[in-house]
Amino acid sequence: MIIDVKSIVSNRKEILKDKINNLRNNGIKPKLAVILASFDEASKIYVSKKKNMCEELNIDEVEYVFNETVTQEEILQLIDKLNNDNNVDGILVQLPLYSHLNEKEILNSVDVNKDVDGFHPLNLGKLITNENGIISCTPKGIMNILKELNINFTGLNAVVVGRSVIVGKPIAHLLLNEGCTVTICHSKTKDLSLYTKNADILVVAVGVPHLIKEDMVNDNCVVIDVGINRVDGKIVGDVDTINVEKKVKHITPVPGGVGLTTILSLLENLVQIASLRSNK
Ligand code: NAD
Repeated sequence: MIIDVKSIVSNRKEILKDKINNLRNNGIKPKLAVILASFDEASKIYVSKKKNMCEELNIDEVEYVFNETVTQEEILQLIDKLNNDNNVDGILVQLPLYSHLNEKEILNSVDVNKDVDGFHPLNLGKLITNENGIISCTPKGIMNILKELNINFTGLNAVVVGRSVIVGKPIAHLLLNEGCTVTICHSKTKDLSLYTKNADILVVAVGVPHLIKEDMVNDNCVVIDVGINRVDGKIVGDVDTINVEKKVKHITPVPGGVGLTTILSLLENLVQIASLRSNK
């Protein structure tokens, strides 16, 4: 069965709207600062989608767009200024950056408490120690989808295909924290289907169209397809959805699946940070 991610997102949006209204009524205006220093067209589209959702949810947003002459120092100075601005709750550095910029140094310079993307090593570390931190957006969205299915995670076999820092590794730790037995597969894994066939939950974040076929899953599996691939002008996932859907218990669609939850998770993170202002 295809998971109705649209309704999950729409319900969560309503909850978030209420939280934002409450904050605003208490004089707190959640504010996101976005830094865009890239030629990447997909990043520009992504930033404009974030802007639209900020408008829809009544979140203040400010964008800093740089051309290719920008220096590392200029970006670090801006981040320092935003780190010290009490009206800014979250700082988002849109990746990838121009190739002459040092991405790691820039990401690590963001105040860990304003790291709305959850990419700071301290926030990633908190996933491992199972402490409250800011969870990166795509893995957070995936967990929200799974929780809507009322899954009892304890003891389930969760298989994550892909070991990136933005998706594969954090989702593996979130599932581990819920009590799953987690296996991480990657490009060097021998006989991928040996693992995927045994999965109760299968998260695929690879970037290879239709990598996961019907004969690689069991009929009780919940499949989360994170992949976004363009094939013949169409967006497809990492799973051969048409055939896999007939067999498995649940599957997320592409498009209209995990991608929908990512921006919402970002703004949920922002509101989580802004809520802490009321405790200061
Ligand atoms: P990445 O390129 O950083 O990592 C890909 C991972 O896949 C690597 O760990 C690699 O070892 C593994 N891999 C490659 N080929 C493999 C194979 N044949 N078998 C098994 N593993 C293999 O990718 P990423 O940033 O994690 O993104 C993965 C996909 O998810 C991409 O299509 C990306 O566009 C998409 N994505 C979607 C969202 C969303 O919001 N829906 C967010 C982030 C990424």
